Amino acid sequence: MVSGSYERPVDLEHALTLLAQGPRQVLAGGTDVYPALGDHGVLDRVLDVTAIANLKGISDEGDQWRIGATTTWSDLLKAELPAAFDCLKLAGREVGGIQIQNAGTIAGNLCNASPAADGVPPLLALDARVELASVNGSRELAVESFITGPRQTELAQDELLSAVLIPKSSAQGVSSFLKLGSRKYLVISIAMVAVVLEATDDRTIKHLSISVGSCSAVACRLRELEAELQGCSLENVAQSPFADRFFAPLSPIDDIRSSARYRLDAAAELVRRAILVCAEALQ
Ligand SMILES: Cc1cc2nc3c(=O)[nH]c(=O)nc-3n(C[C@H](O)[C@H](O)[C@H](O)COP(=O)(O)OP(=O)(O)OC[C@H]3O[C@@H](n4cnc5c(N)ncnc54)[C@H](O)[C@@H]3O)c2cc1C
Repeated sequence: MVSGSYERPVDLEHALTLLAQGPRQVLAGGTDVYPALGDHGVLDRVLDVTAIANLKGISDEGDQWRIGATTTWSDLLKAELPAAFDCLKLAGREVGGIQIQNAGTIAGNLCNASPAADGVPPLLALDARVELASVNGSRELAVESFITGPRQTELAQDELLSAVLIPKSSAQGVSSFLKLGSRKYLVISIAMVAVVLEATDDRTIKHLSISVGSCSAVACRLRELEAELQGCSLENVAQSPFADRFFAPLSPIDDIRSSARYRLDAAAELVRRAILVCAEALQ
């Protein structure tokens, strides 16, 4: 429910001016905001960003891809993008049902900063950056630095996330996304993994990025494992489990969905399988 002031500007400058005048509840699809209100919550001083035309859509900017903040998961699924984006599309298909994907946005998923947000591991694996705009101009941050903890980001009170930027150099090759939940659909992850893999002509790994979500306060990259597998042949990569030390960046918790130990084992197996999916796609 909304009471008090509700603004739905059509241009970004107006939205940023409103934000510069004082705190507002930024609202996109509302699929995280409204459930968080509970039965009796009320929204006040709302800034609805969904009518701002230049925050929506996906464009090729030469050396990078730009995904506007209010691009919905359904928009993303319909977009023609290189195979490296398959991990992000597969994650998008997992965000609720179709109605949620029609309303929920990529910026909302990032700004909500849930440890279980499905969009985050693929964006980490793609080396995505966020563009943050205010009346004073804009700045860019790596997604890895933007999310600082559960429900915590670097977004300042007077800023909007205006776009997600993905360097073309990181969007090469193929990718995969695997999510484990307690059932197949409409489920919060126990663990999820995104992998982007680029191979040479002689089928060795040229570039590999691996990220894991739901197994630490903030989803993270497994950089030691990435470095270890660099140069490996696709024929024998991931044939057996990886050593535990490669999963040291993870710090899973025990909760209602899973024990920490099960999460860790699941993450390790999902990483192995996601790499195999990529290797097979390059056959
Ligand atoms: C039934 C259901 C199932 C779901 N299943 C999943 C799931 O499987 N996986 C998953 O990851 N998520 C899931 N979600 C959560 C949600 O749908 C996604 O996180 C979605 O991407 C949120 O986008 P939104 O536009 O609705 O965000 P909103 O709810 O509008 O906003 C979320 C947060 O982001 C802020 N925000 C939004 N846009 C901006 C911006 N441009 N600049 C600054 N701040 C901004 C808002 O202020 C708010 O704090 C589910 C939600 C529901 C209701």
